[in-house]
Amino acid sequence: MPFEACLLFFVNFPKHAYPQLTSQSVCGSILLQMKMICIFSTLRAGGKGMERLTKNRKRVREVLFSSEHPLTAYDISKECPEMSLTTIYRALDYLVRKGQVKSFTFNQYTYFLPSERHEDFFLCTSCGKFFQLECLAGSYEQNLRERGMIPSDHLILITGLCNECNEKLRVRI
Ligand SMILES: [Zn+2]
Ligand SMILES: [Zn+2]
Repeated sequence: MPFEACLLFFVNFPKHAYPQLTSQSVCGSILLQMKMICIFSTLRAGGKGMERLTKNRKRVREVLFSSEHPLTAYDISKECPEMSLTTIYRALDYLVRKGQVKSFTFNQYTYFLPSERHEDFFLCTSCGKFFQLECLAGSYEQNLRERGMIPSDHLILITGLCNECNEKLRVRI
């Protein structure tokens, strides 16, 4: 039954004619039909567009999960030139909402990395390279637990100059 007809059915429903049907069960059946109509119209509206969307999300996820360090949307766009930055941001937003990806912002840049991964980093502010650090946060977490807190995640980011950039700077001076 189409949605409009369904509503009409509800409005014109003669209660005395069908006493075994409570208004609750009528509401229930209308809600069910509305849900089904919604699902069908989503499927119809989706089609090719939906496929492309899923493909984009998969690709962005793939790039992030295969990278050894956090990436900005711009970094991802270099790997996926077929996608616009807006598309990449939308895919990232979806992945963050789904809890698959986490992000942090530093110096106006937002970096993304898989949620399941725990890494601490040194970031060279001159060349933008990340270097993985050994995690030394155990004692902080222990200290927090002793104070009744429950640490769930952390990210240690140390910034400065990598030895290559430091070397170049020294040569210039
Ligand atoms: Zn550097
Ligand atoms: Zn750590």
